[in-house]
Amino acid sequence: MDDHSFIEPIDKERLVKDLKALGVRQGDLLNVKVSMSSIGYVVGGAKTLIDALLEVVGSKGTIVTDSFVNVYPLPLNKRDAQKVSDRFTHSYAGALANTMLYHPNAYRSAHPVQRFVAIGAHAKELMANHTPESYAYDVLRVMAQSMEGRNLKLGTDEKVVGVGTTHVAIGLLKLHQNQPRAGVNYYDYKTGQVRLFERNWSGACPKGFINFIPLYRKVGAILSEGKVGNADSKITDMRKTLEIELETLSKNPSFFFCDDPACVGCRVTWDFSTGSALSAKFHFTIKLMKTAIKLAIQLLRNGI
Ligand SMILES: [Zn+2]
Repeated sequence: MDDHSFIEPIDKERLVKDLKALGVRQGDLLNVKVSMSSIGYVVGGAKTLIDALLEVVGSKGTIVTDSFVNVYPLPLNKRDAQKVSDRFTHSYAGALANTMLYHPNAYRSAHPVQRFVAIGAHAKELMANHTPESYAYDVLRVMAQSMEGRNLKLGTDEKVVGVGTTHVAIGLLKLHQNQPRAGVNYYDYKTGQVRLFERNWSGACPKGFINFIPLYRKVGAILSEGKVGNADSKITDMRKTLEIELETLSKNPSFFFCDDPACVGCRVTWDFSTGSALSAKFHFTIKLMKTAIKLAIQLLRNGI
């Protein structure tokens, strides 16, 4: 008996059917964000999902996903200095990104850190324009503002963070976060040399991105919702999500903050954060203590 005896296998045909039913069309330009485990047991894994997506968008369509790579504290120590970001550097983004990297028709952006990977009609052009000089999320800005891009999310909003455009809004509005210096060495194809790249964009708190969902719904940015395999999925209009994010954040830049008093990112690091490091640290300590007490009670209950 194999390990999957009681798990419904999801094959390419099923994915194609579900993606079409969700509203993915021939010719679509999709930014794909996926939790593979939320879909279920996909026969053949991420490769099967890629094949299904390419079949549904067809020869005029394009699929894009982020395949970002790690940065390291600056100045680089000896070990980190050996790590050179290039076309095939492993991404922390997961199975879809890392499988797409090795697809024979894939292109990857030359940005040293926020590297995207794409397959399809617009892949080459989109990736070629994303260079070390570009804004980290510029691929998504172009997709939203000039190319009628759509975001396809497979997995819940809690599990798969964001709809691709929030970072674009943060960048366009020049919202500034104070972060420790970090970067990575990369191979510069123009000069043939290894150069240092320093992170030059703000991050964001992933827990707060969900605050935008009711606004997307209100402005009609959510085009469809349904299931792909077992994953709660949705398609959003990137132009519309970007527009409402720009409108909202220009009035209230802290709209994407989470409500966790212990979140140092939201409470302290932004130019418009209103908390103090001491208070965030205090709440963080309380949280740790609560977890420790809960654990102790559980251990006592279990008679350990
Ligand atoms: Zn936060």
